[in-house]
Amino acid sequence: MDLGERRVAMLAELGVRLWPRAPIAEVAEAAGLAGAVAPLGIRVEATGGEPASAAPARATARDADTASMDWPTLRVAVTGCTACGLCEGRTKAVFGAGHERAHWMIIGEAPGDEEDARGEPFVGKAGQLLDNMLAALGLSRQAGPPERQVFIAHVLKCRPPKGRNPSREDLAQCAPFLERQVALVRPRMILAMGRLAAVLLAGDEPLGRLRGRVHSYLGVPTVVTYDPAYLLRNPTDKARAWDDLCMAHEALQATSGAD
Ligand code: URA
Repeated sequence: MDLGERRVAMLAELGVRLWPRAPIAEVAEAAGLAGAVAPLGIRVEATGGEPASAAPARATARDADTASMDWPTLRVAVTGCTACGLCEGRTKAVFGAGHERAHWMIIGEAPGDEEDARGEPFVGKAGQLLDNMLAALGLSRQAGPPERQVFIAHVLKCRPPKGRNPSREDLAQCAPFLERQVALVRPRMILAMGRLAAVLLAGDEPLGRLRGRVHSYLGVPTVVTYDPAYLLRNPTDKARAWDDLCMAHEALQATSGAD
């Protein structure tokens, strides 16, 4: 990717080291995926959004309702949802934010304390880091054309209690909301950030093994990377996250070129 001086400066500020990126084929090779590279040089793996560890026992009637909702109805359903125990500990459900037809969708794990208090995704320091990383790709959650914008959502719309992993039931109850958001936005690229998002969207493997490949979630190319909150605690992994973002950008360019 051709980086302008502004972006290079911004990345330096992020602590992201720049080096010539290995071609995707080399990335695949390094990951032991030799011979499995698609013609565009991008490996695409379909998971159908149903990894074993998150495979939900679905309430099909509710799914059917959710699958036909428009944006306002969906927002009301999410913000008033009491389908699982997570609603008891929330201040505000976090619906998501951004352009409703953005080309990029960012899917994080779950709201933290600040997001729960404000009802917005990725605020505070993790949000700033996310905004800076997106800006380095020329993307923003502020107003702008859809190809430069993101829609940000979470796998779970309510903050899980500290020290407790969300249950399969929590995930199952929330999944139809995210599926409907993806169907409405119809993004061209999804970034799945963090272990929970990675498992739900890409498959039940360690996050490190899900990186470096383009997966498919509900038919949308999906790249797995680290949660910005994790990157604040582990800044040495910022360079890897940047590599993931570049791969997503390249994959999107490749598919747009093929249109
Ligand atoms: N991580 C997330 O998944 N979501 C946030 O809003 C912040 C950090």
